[in-house]
Amino acid sequence: MKTFEDLGVRDDLRRAIEELGFENPMPVQEKVIPHLLGEDSDVVALAQTGTGKTAAFGLPVLQRVDPEIKKPQALILSPTRELCLQIGADLADFSKYMPAVKVLPVYGGSSIESQIRALKEGVQIIVATPGRLIDLINRGVVDLGLVHTVVLDEADEMLNMGFLDSIDEILAKVPDQRKMLMFSATMPNEIAKIAKKYMSSPVEFVIGNRNQGADNVKHIYYMVNARDKYLALKRIADNSPNIYAIIFCRTRRDTQEIADKLIQDGYNADALHGDLSQQQRDLTMKKFRDRVTSLLVATDVAARGLDVDDLTHVINYGLPDDTAVYTHRSGRTGRAGKTGVSIAIIHSREKGKLKEIEKKIGKTFERKEVPTPEHIIEKQLYNLADRIEKVKVDDGEIDKYLPGVSRKLGWLSQEDLLKRVLSLEFNRLLDYYKDAPKIDFIDEKPRKDKKEKQRPTDEEKDRRTAQRGMARIYINAGKADGFFAGNLIDMLNHLVEGKRVDVGRIDLLPHYSLFDVPKADARRVVRGLTGAEFVGKRIYSEVAEPDKDYSRLSSKKKNEKKTALPTADETTYEYFLKKSRGGAKKPGRTKARKK
Ligand code: AMP
Repeated sequence: MKTFEDLGVRDDLRRAIEELGFENPMPVQEKVIPHLLGEDSDVVALAQTGTGKTAAFGLPVLQRVDPEIKKPQALILSPTRELCLQIGADLADFSKYMPAVKVLPVYGGSSIESQIRALKEGVQIIVATPGRLIDLINRGVVDLGLVHTVVLDEADEMLNMGFLDSIDEILAKVPDQRKMLMFSATMPNEIAKIAKKYMSSPVEFVIGNRNQGADNVKHIYYMVNARDKYLALKRIADNSPNIYAIIFCRTRRDTQEIADKLIQDGYNADALHGDLSQQQRDLTMKKFRDRVTSLLVATDVAARGLDVDDLTHVINYGLPDDTAVYTHRSGRTGRAGKTGVSIAIIHSREKGKLKEIEKKIGKTFERKEVPTPEHIIEKQLYNLADRIEKVKVDDGEIDKYLPGVSRKLGWLSQEDLLKRVLSLEFNRLLDYYKDAPKIDFIDEKPRKDKKEKQRPTDEEKDRRTAQRGMARIYINAGKADGFFAGNLIDMLNHLVEGKRVDVGRIDLLPHYSLFDVPKADARRVVRGLTGAEFVGKRIYSEVAEPDKDYSRLSSKKKNEKKTALPTADETTYEYFLKKSRGGAKKPGRTKARKK
């Protein structure tokens, strides 16, 4: 195995990183460091955060600056203020034994005056967000004339954030003979274009596979109905008693809403999104880093630069449209050699997106069942038992109070006592999960047993029941066909042979209708109507049965022909045809249908 010394890292830097616990170089460092120290060609490195890329560019950059010259010699551009601060802090750590080298992070959202003051005191390395740097250049306080190394970190993110023009503007102020490095987690075409435009025959290093999530990340998905997503999230959280996770949402509103609900439900959660002030965001991130909160609900943009290495889960509350965004999200877990889990909670319509992501990252998602209440409770109970077993007991302090407590609880058996301790923690959970159903989305609807008919409601039954002395007739035309009471009377008058039919109660429904006629006329009416046509629809009629579900019988058939509506010069009567049964009393009035 190679050492940092083998890579040519100077001893003052080595001492500092040894103190940080770096024993051997990580793959990206092994590739990039000797190249940067030795050769003059530019570098494009595909590497995610967490691969050790900051040291990969940071160490050689620090080694190459001249501490005697109090002017900027290296420029590191980063998309966000948080990443900017992170890089600044890492470089400060690495340069612990290089007191003459000054690194200055400059970024928007904080006092420009103090940044100007620091610049005037002389710095060799500037770590900047593009907007603020341009501001400083325009004020004439930054001179980039001596810059020999430029690093673009998270270049794909900078593009996503629309910094291309700013990068153009900045690079125009840097001497042409500079050395340039570009780090990116993904390789969209635009990155290749930038490389072509600004770099001279760059060497490309790929750390891990191109466009792939980290190898030690497991990708899991749960499929539920859209309305059950939040329930699924809670079950996932409940099933991992020591969860420490970022939950990614697409919008600021969702982010706040989910966080609010979680807080209301008793979780240590917080929201991180762009509607919060910088101060609020800083506080939220600090609380999360310090583990005061264990669930951080965040938008992608706001979570950038929040650097935490030991997340147990990344949770996608729905999938992002852009595969690169998924790669970034999942790349936040499974860092520094640990294994991680990236979870997607999706509904059935997101399956296509899931397939797309699988194709891009070259990995398959494993579908899992949402943890069942029994499983969750069992897990939580064992976790508590584990905590009881391992808790540090301060005998000296506790002993003082033990006799009194023992007197009070002495009547309880050991089992009773245990039950009570567990109930203290678990009643809320037990209560919540009592009778909780399974919420997994079932791909194929189970076929209903034909015998097990749906019971009609009272209203439906009433609708299907004739009034005294009358018979209820069903006809397969309804309001959606443009069929109204007048049309029914028209049809009865013209199609039913014999004496005129007295019509009772009429119920018009979207796809069918029910009406009463005297019992004695029922058969005659059905015979008259059946086989006729209304606006191109073949009419069917029968004596209605109170238990029959006519809405299903009448739902639109796929291949049902739809013809044009009557024109203005046709009466409805003229429009419906009864050729098939030839029952018209006044055939002379029936015109041929217009084409
Ligand atoms: P980065 O990708 O630069 O954000 O680094 C990810 C994490 O790995 C950081 O916490 C670094 O401090 C750590 N790290 C970087 N290089 C090494 C190394 N050679 N050995 C151990 N840890 C490292």
